[in-house]
Amino acid sequence: MSAGAADIAHSPPLISLAGIRKHYGGGDKPKVDILHGLSLDIHAGEFVAIVGSSGSGKSTLMNILGCLDKPSAGSYHFAGRDIAEFDSDELAWLRREAFGFVFQGYHLIATESAQENVEIPALYSGVPEAERAARAQALLERLGLGERMQNRPNQLSGGQQQRVSIARALMNGGRIILADEPTGALDSRSGEEVMQLLAELADKGHTIILITHDREVAARAQRVIEIRDGLIISDQGKRPAKSGPGFDMHYRAEPARWRGDMLEACRAAWRVMWINRFRTALTLLGIIIGVASVIVMLAIGLGTKQRVVEKLGAFGSNLLYMSSIGESSRIPGRSITLADLEAIRDIPQIAHVLPNVTGNKVVRYGNTDVQTYIRGTGAEMPRIQSWPTRYGEFFSEEDDRNMATVAVLGQKVAHNLMPDIENPVGQTILIGNVPFQVIGMLSSKGALTGDKDEDDLIMIPFTTAGTRVFGQREPTYTIMQVADMKDIFAAEKAVDELLFARHRIRDYGMRNAAASIAAEAETQDTMRLMLALIAAISLIVGGIGVMNVMLMTVRERTREIGIRMATGARQSDILHQFLTEAVLVSTVGGVTGVVLGLGIGAALIFWDVPVIFSLTAIAGAFGCSVVTGLIFGFMPARQAARLDPVVALANE
Ligand code: ADP
Ligand code: MG
Repeated sequence: MSAGAADIAHSPPLISLAGIRKHYGGGDKPKVDILHGLSLDIHAGEFVAIVGSSGSGKSTLMNILGCLDKPSAGSYHFAGRDIAEFDSDELAWLRREAFGFVFQGYHLIATESAQENVEIPALYSGVPEAERAARAQALLERLGLGERMQNRPNQLSGGQQQRVSIARALMNGGRIILADEPTGALDSRSGEEVMQLLAELADKGHTIILITHDREVAARAQRVIEIRDGLIISDQGKRPAKSGPGFDMHYRAEPARWRGDMLEACRAAWRVMWINRFRTALTLLGIIIGVASVIVMLAIGLGTKQRVVEKLGAFGSNLLYMSSIGESSRIPGRSITLADLEAIRDIPQIAHVLPNVTGNKVVRYGNTDVQTYIRGTGAEMPRIQSWPTRYGEFFSEEDDRNMATVAVLGQKVAHNLMPDIENPVGQTILIGNVPFQVIGMLSSKGALTGDKDEDDLIMIPFTTAGTRVFGQREPTYTIMQVADMKDIFAAEKAVDELLFARHRIRDYGMRNAAASIAAEAETQDTMRLMLALIAAISLIVGGIGVMNVMLMTVRERTREIGIRMATGARQSDILHQFLTEAVLVSTVGGVTGVVLGLGIGAALIFWDVPVIFSLTAIAGAFGCSVVTGLIFGFMPARQAARLDPVVALANE
């Protein structure tokens, strides 16, 4: 068959409405009938004006024609297919590929430039960026807006905005242009320009459906349909249409790609965030504090743990401490005898026994007196406690046997007694009134443990201390070295059993360094847990903040969502957009939190707090903030995606 004009009139119409009814309300609200069974065929290439007074149902009809709204009853066939069978993605596809909307109020997105507004329909059909930009620029130039492409809508006149919206309608081809009062808000000259444009498009074969209350405007169309109270009262000028291409109804179910346009989504999200930067910053405090505190507290935790481990080494984790004072001592400080020590030496797990007799004494050097701690101990002390001398020697077994009056100074005492002498070896001091020769100076233990008072002591042989300084041969406390660290608790038990068998009362006290350090570490663990809880709470508070700001954003931008849907966005596109915004917001919070955390950590290092940053903690905290955005952003994003396009568009 030849494609003559007569054939087109007889070919199936592009749009076919039959018995379309539409009512609003119902249920508990009063039911208002707007369209009362309206039937209408429109062929491809027609230029149709629908005219009627205000309130007659024109916009309602247009929303149905453009698949923004569904009729309450009746059927709508588009290019031969029943629209009722379409799901929401297919409807979005139709809006994006078949229709182009031009509204009285332009409906441009206020935060985007003219070019970006024009690009939107192509964005949703997945056209690559370069092609999109080229097409938008060409359209804008054709419509005389070549100089205005980077302007925001509020920097354009009404006529210019309407031309931008026509360019947007043409972006994906604009086979069918649905124009609802396109000149309603324009002065007569701009209005005339817009009508000129529509007429040109009609000449080029676009199907134009123009809605207006103005008969003069309607007269520009080739066919004029008049409606009143939801019914067609006249249909004039219906004649064989010019040849216009129909519409290829081959739906390409593009997989809802979480598009390569991630960058585009981020850029748009960033812009929105920047516009509301103050509000966003406030919202982010929760996340920032959460992330920063996780990082700082884990860094402190790790730092302290490291210090504890060092201490463990410094004290000797394989040492048992036994004091000669117990819960039921008869002679406090003297309960352990030398015979007890001999018995303990026979316990297999015990490698060494180091008796100590201690007390405070006044020490004199020249004219300087200081009160210090005197510790009589064994020659094995430096090895057992990993505490070497800095200068000179520690005393020997022989010195101990001979009750030699030799002394080894701790660094602090050495400094207090003889501030001008670096190496005290060879000097003589008085302890009480007994002269001692200084044979060595210990290295600083306090430097390692952080307690400088550990260097405020003098060590002398155990026997010398007992006989010449304290007048007591029993140890005040005893250090026992366990051969194998893992036997420490068994050894402690063995010593306790032995002594209890000998004394029949517990007039001694035992502890081991490992246990007390472990206890200390445990307190820190509890601390850490508490801080982790605080961090978790601030992250949740941060998440609620994100949710709040997103809900607010969705409410403020309802109309934008409507515009995006009218230009072909799927629900998944809207969901994606708002989720991207939520994640971006919380990512910014996360980054700020990491920076803040590192800053606080650095400041703490300055104040000598042990801090070790953990990459895992930083990555984990950051990850948590992103996930928070994803979780708390989901609800508002879904709310946005589920908006009804007509309701969203009507939102002011
Ligand atoms: P027109 O575009 O011809 O001026 P509309 O189609 O916008 O008319 O509206 C027709 C009638 O439907 C009006 O009386 C309007 O008040 C009513 N109407 C439109 N939308 C709704 C709605 N969502 N709920 C209830 N009534 C509505
Ligand atoms: Mg209207």
